[in-house]
Amino acid sequence: MTESRIATELYIDGKWAPAESGATFTVINPATEQPVAEVADGSVADAERAIRAAAAVQRDWARTAPRERSEILRRAYELILDRTDELAAIMTAEMGKPLAEARGEVAYGAEFFRWFSEEAVRIGGDHTTTGDGKNRIIVTREPVGPCVLVTPWNFPLAMGTRKIGPAIAAGCTMVFKPAEQTPLTALALAGILEEAGLPAGVLNVVPTSNPGAVVRHWLEGGIARKLSFTGSTDVGKLLLTQAATTVMRTSMELGGNAPFLVCADADIDRAVEGAMIAKLRNMGETCTAANRFFVHRSVAEEFATKLADRMTSLTVGDGAADGTDIGPLIDRAGLEKVARLVADARDRGARVVTGGTAVEGAGYFYPPTVLTDVGPDAELMSTEIFGPVAAITVFDDEEDAVQAANDTEWGLVGYVYTQDVDRAFSLSEQLEVGMVGLNAGLVSNPAAPFGGVKQSGLGREGGRIGIDEFLEYKYLAIPRS
Ligand code: NAD
Repeated sequence: MTESRIATELYIDGKWAPAESGATFTVINPATEQPVAEVADGSVADAERAIRAAAAVQRDWARTAPRERSEILRRAYELILDRTDELAAIMTAEMGKPLAEARGEVAYGAEFFRWFSEEAVRIGGDHTTTGDGKNRIIVTREPVGPCVLVTPWNFPLAMGTRKIGPAIAAGCTMVFKPAEQTPLTALALAGILEEAGLPAGVLNVVPTSNPGAVVRHWLEGGIARKLSFTGSTDVGKLLLTQAATTVMRTSMELGGNAPFLVCADADIDRAVEGAMIAKLRNMGETCTAANRFFVHRSVAEEFATKLADRMTSLTVGDGAADGTDIGPLIDRAGLEKVARLVADARDRGARVVTGGTAVEGAGYFYPPTVLTDVGPDAELMSTEIFGPVAAITVFDDEEDAVQAANDTEWGLVGYVYTQDVDRAFSLSEQLEVGMVGLNAGLVSNPAAPFGGVKQSGLGREGGRIGIDEFLEYKYLAIPRS
């Protein structure tokens, strides 16, 4: 791939090529509803070639020096940063986030490669003796084998690097299926890794308009040994059943329904600042998005008013235009879902403080919206909104707030705003989640173990333990003479 060309072909065994069938599918710009590119549409036949290419080099790749794998990641990290503007423009065109946010994602996504370049050379083991003293136990760690990576559209670069980084560091080969809305960023990333020296076959990218057939082929085919999936809980559950047919290792980063608690003693300006990030990052299309705000009655009016004031001042528009704060939602279905959830909450008594009506014209735009007096029966209390809508419920008693916050099948992240240290720890401990933002509206960081409990997923990505998802333990029993 040259620097200026946008890659649109499949990347299998180190070669760029059209789909075997010659089919393509169209990537749409959600701000304009106009085509961005035609991308090769991978089929099951292409998927088969890809997994075979990954399997063919697994053994050799596993034996490469950790330092070699580390340096490929490090070079790719630098190349990604060098191409910040180019990658940001691709992301904005295919999924809508404003350019400033897209640049932020480039820095965030690249950091997974730097982080795992540092982890690649620190894969350790263990050495002990059995209790009776008769045997040595040596524990080594080996790459799990060819991996299936499946990512969503909301962070087209970072969701890829969060999986590819540890897989490369651990010595795994992989087939990668990006979301059909955002294949261009994934293909650009493959070009960068190729340039950074990744050997042919280690990474194979198969965009497709038929994810069901392609992914099923990999999960049930018996060659791949690991699934790392990020996406909705419904699709995740389906893939778990398919992965069960070959007893495959799985890491599942699924949906969320994050509670955002604002206590009576909270610093309200700080809480509003955090809410702006937790709610509006990526137009509200994040798994970590604050979905339900529980605010103490004594500060509810002030919080809602200040939040609405901040949100009203934002500019909604094409993410590629200067000055845009809020880009479009991903597609018409996403827009209609948000509009339906707001209408339902209003029908059940919620009050609109700002926003509340979809923007007319081309593009899938919904304005930042604040709702108060949202009742527990409103559908958005039990559904990922995936849009810029803050739904506020008032509480009097903290125990009730915690109970309501935990009254969901999801458990990815929770946010707590309080200035009291005992309350801060107590509430953080009581929330049934994998991550807590304590007076913080952003938890994602490559150095931290990202993931959820309950139906938000299995396993963790990032941090010191992120590489474990791609390693198996092997134990050697050696008698002592
Ligand atoms: P999605 O589940 O629709 O799609 C995710 C991926 O799965 C895409 O690549 C898609 O092509 C593929 N897919 C869809 N149907 C499939 C099938 N039948 N078989 C195999 N693959 C299939 O999710 P989305 O709309 O792309 O992303 C939004 C969801 O992702 C939200 O629920 C969000 O919370 C979640 N998400 C979670 C995290 C996390 O780390 N926990 C991060 C980002 C997004």
